Amino acid sequence: MKRILLKLSGEALAGDKKTGFDEATVMKVAKQVKILVDEGIQVGIVIGGGNFWRGRSSENINREKADQIGMLATLMNCIYVSEIFQSAGMMTQVLTPFECGGFSKLYSHERVGKYFAHNFVIFFAGGTGHPYFSTDTATVLRAVEIEADVILLAKAVDGVYDDDPKSNPNAKKYDEVSIQEVIDKKLAVVDMTASIMCMENKMPMLVFGLNQENSIVNTVKGDFTGTRVTV
Ligand code: UDP
Repeated sequence: MKRILLKLSGEALAGDKKTGFDEATVMKVAKQVKILVDEGIQVGIVIGGGNFWRGRSSENINREKADQIGMLATLMNCIYVSEIFQSAGMMTQVLTPFECGGFSKLYSHERVGKYFAHNFVIFFAGGTGHPYFSTDTATVLRAVEIEADVILLAKAVDGVYDDDPKSNPNAKKYDEVSIQEVIDKKLAVVDMTASIMCMENKMPMLVFGLNQENSIVNTVKGDFTGTRVTV
């Protein structure tokens, strides 16, 4: 793998607190990503916003505005994680699909090439910049745009199951599953819009548990125990 897109859920940043940030959790991620960057692997990152806000969080406000708050939540997450990454010795840049003054730089293909060439970790904040989308879709969109080799989906669960493992103890974990089967069976990997985009653009995914020791590094180095989503 030369270039990867790592997706972290907002909840993953919060650790046991479920909201806000858990610095120890983020530092563990930073140390693993540094190992990859030091080996010359180019790492792009998309982070969800669920530790702060979702477009569905309020029934009383307009969905477009609620989604804007959600997109800004992903920007807060990216600024925070980017700073922790810097403190762990990496160079980082936050890119957004909309102007945010000095908080970030506007996404462009050229900027991505420039920052990767200088060994920066790039944070793709602000989702797609449009309401009614998710950071799942932003992840696939950016992975396709930057021509990533693969998407690494770091989740609270350790792979893709045929049922919810939290409510069904007999749920079976897949070692490998095709994106077509994910779509047909509506398996909980990424949302439907993102799944279809993965299929159409032949973008593979590796799904694994963020909380397992060294799981990001192990996944990249082939010691993979999660689910491979093939295209
Ligand atoms: N969001 C959006 N457009 C995007 C990405 C995210 O409107 O392209 C908003 C949406 O409100 C979403 C929130 O940002 O609920 C947080 O993103 P995430 O993907 O974590 O949310 P989830 O899928 O859990 O709702």
